[in-house]
Amino acid sequence: MFIFIPLPSTLYTATAEGSVRKDVACERCGHTYPYHMSRIATGFHKVLFSSPQGPEKALAKARANLVKALETEHDEVPCPECGWHQAAHLAFARSRMYPELKKLAGAFLFLAKLALGVILFIIALGLVVLPDHALPKVSSLLQFALIVLAIASPGLILLGLRNLLALNYRPNRP
Ligand SMILES: [Zn+2]
Repeated sequence: MFIFIPLPSTLYTATAEGSVRKDVACERCGHTYPYHMSRIATGFHKVLFSSPQGPEKALAKARANLVKALETEHDEVPCPECGWHQAAHLAFARSRMYPELKKLAGAFLFLAKLALGVILFIIALGLVVLPDHALPKVSSLLQFALIVLAIASPGLILLGLRNLLALNYRPNRP
């Protein structure tokens, strides 16, 4: 019999807010211009029962996430001189588009990974348990591969569709 005993755990959450001055050199006309970028970052820390250091650790994670966001992220601020949208700004804006499609694709790919894990486990179990310790036949390996591919393919199609939609965002096009 399998008894599930839920252990109490606490999830500590903290947010950190900050802004940074970004200096941009326009790719088209060379004009340099600054802008201020603000971000709010979240940090989580999960412990069994509770911990007095929980809030502190969550805050440290939030701060680390904030530093990373301020360093690596961009706002889309076109050049005030010539109106050009910078490539790095566009790439970042595109990466943030259609998050639902990205999530849905991720769910299919996760299921495919899970299926692959189960199949590899069954094969490994067969190697250990079966009297002849034989690998499965090539035909059944091919079938396993097809199953994994069938589960993954909606995810791959969704990802491709999302990328196509995001690429459609081209504000520099005349
Ligand atoms: Zn410019």
